[in-house]
Amino acid sequence: MTLVPFSCIIVVSIAATSLAFVPSRCLTSIAPRTTASDLRWNAGASRGAVSNAGSTRIHSAVDGDDNVVDASPSIISLDRELLGRPARPGRPLRVAIAGGGVGGLTTALCMLKKGFDVTVYEKTAAFARFGGPIQFASNALSVIKEIDEGLFDRVMEKFTFTGTRACGIKDGLRADGSFRMTNDSLDYLWNPDAPADWFVKFPLKQCADLFGLPYTGVIDRPDLQEILIDECRKIKPDFIRNGNPVDGYVSKGKGKGVTVKLQDGSTADADILVGSDGIWSSVRAQMYGEEIKKSSKDGQKRQGCTYSGYTVFAGETVFKTDDYYDTGYKVYIGPKRYFVTSDVGDGRIQWYAFFALPPGTKKAPSGWGGSERLDQADPEENLVDYIKSLHEGWSDEIMAVLDATPADSVEQRDLYDRAPELLRSWADGNVVCIGDAVHPMMPNLGQGGCQAIEDAFVLSETLEACKSTDELEGALQDFYKKRIVRVTIVQLLSRLASDLIINAFDTPWSPHDDLGKSWKSYLTFFWKPILQYAIFPAQFAYLYSYHPTGSMGGLPAALEAKWRKQHEESAEAAFIRVSEDGQSVAAPSFFKIAEQPVTVLAAKKK
Ligand SMILES: Cc1cc2nc3c(=O)[nH]c(=O)nc-3n(C[C@H](O)[C@H](O)[C@H](O)COP(=O)(O)OP(=O)(O)OC[C@H]3O[C@@H](n4cnc5c(N)ncnc54)[C@H](O)[C@@H]3O)c2cc1C
Repeated sequence: MTLVPFSCIIVVSIAATSLAFVPSRCLTSIAPRTTASDLRWNAGASRGAVSNAGSTRIHSAVDGDDNVVDASPSIISLDRELLGRPARPGRPLRVAIAGGGVGGLTTALCMLKKGFDVTVYEKTAAFARFGGPIQFASNALSVIKEIDEGLFDRVMEKFTFTGTRACGIKDGLRADGSFRMTNDSLDYLWNPDAPADWFVKFPLKQCADLFGLPYTGVIDRPDLQEILIDECRKIKPDFIRNGNPVDGYVSKGKGKGVTVKLQDGSTADADILVGSDGIWSSVRAQMYGEEIKKSSKDGQKRQGCTYSGYTVFAGETVFKTDDYYDTGYKVYIGPKRYFVTSDVGDGRIQWYAFFALPPGTKKAPSGWGGSERLDQADPEENLVDYIKSLHEGWSDEIMAVLDATPADSVEQRDLYDRAPELLRSWADGNVVCIGDAVHPMMPNLGQGGCQAIEDAFVLSETLEACKSTDELEGALQDFYKKRIVRVTIVQLLSRLASDLIINAFDTPWSPHDDLGKSWKSYLTFFWKPILQYAIFPAQFAYLYSYHPTGSMGGLPAALEAKWRKQHEESAEAAFIRVSEDGQSVAAPSFFKIAEQPVTVLAAKKK
């Protein structure tokens, strides 16, 4: 776990760098292949065509005239039905979506906007405001804007930019709260007063500026969910069915659609089924022959997913650190663990503590979207104290954040991911999986949700080109081919990031103290300039290289300038509220109210 991953990261980064300079559209816009059915369609396309229960008819579309003439069955397949778009005849594509998380709701909106007839089947009985803030990197923001300008504007209203402030890796033992950024020079080698508490800074702003994209930041998942549901309802008010999960499917063959099996025994017919039902996906279980949530005895494997080796605790507090306005997110590294904090707006700091522990070392409930909120193992235990005890000797910056956190806001999740599906397609007949259902990844790059959004967009674009149902199976395979390379790279980078931080990094060696003396400390010291000047620029440039909008010119800077003032006002108001009323009033925010449906919360807000 040392040199091999390092060489891997270099290889991957070189590949990533070279891909970064391929125009973004080329990365996902492989031209749809021409199939026999395309040729058959083209034979009639200039005249327009519709299909009725088993017989195929061709229009002579002269100025919209619907004169129907017989078509020879040898020319046109009888298995297909013609799919309409605003500019062409036929009926709308019928899409069933399993799961209304980030990926499912974004897919629904993309497809509703294209005129498809979409129904989302969501497991939970009512949408609740659960889940912490989610980071949207510049690539995801570009996709959101390309999907819908209105959606982008609404997301921006609730957004907190982090990427324009200092983000990067800090020294978990040496950081002393004075917020000194390590100089780019090497003078800290001989100057004991040179700042050394920042190990590396991420070039998030520079990479976003390279492509003219909005800056990385965060949005609360409940806000995102409310916006997406609302935008979908504007197009199809009853697009979502809650409380009846998808159990399985029967794909009926080329051009004949799919029967979706629901838990209450009922069924629904559609042309395609999109499995976006998260990491413990029922759709994937059937596609790959897995048993839902079935674990190996040691817990290392679960429904085809691999335990990453890490469990993560998360908490939230309203707290004004000395560097609150100057920093976005900070990754504190040290022996065998790391600790992440991020400004998530309204004066709040979200933190994550990652530990290398066996699976099932469970202490706290899990409250993230899609998972059920379980009882804490020992309700009397103060989880903040527990996490502090695992960080003995670490920086006061971390202790201050933990001390300010209400203990009952702490949640935990064992982290699982999957190896990239290089040998098996994500599609089976008229069924396809997207997002965590087929490529769950470690959260280190904050790209799991971003990749689900990219999936949603590329899938919708690919299906839009289909003119009849018998093209759908091929289109789903095309979608898989368009996405697999990029998603594989992001999955690998995400896994490498956590493995390297915990297994290969330690407190960096310094000539001025004894805090980092292991061989890993020397290695960490050695890698510092390479990470700063080669690997991280290549990584972020690659992540942002997918941006269907193209450059947005001056818009990102204007959005950030407008946001900065509001951010300070809302944060200061929260700090005053907490100083007067204590943490319990202003925070924890969504954890406490997790069980309440969105509508109740919306009413409360008013
Ligand atoms: C600690 C942590 C931090 C993270 N931070 C980030 C981040 O900053 N940025 C980022 O981009 N990503 C992040 N991720 C990853 C991100 O959360 C996921 O990649 C993303 O939520 C995947 O979206 P999804 O729609 O595929 O699945 P989910 O969001 O898991 O949604 C699945 C949905 O399907 C429903 N469902 C489940 N089973 C069924 C069924 N049988 N039938 C119908 N519905 C069903 C669930 O109720 C849920 O609503 C993080 C993950 C973790 C664990």
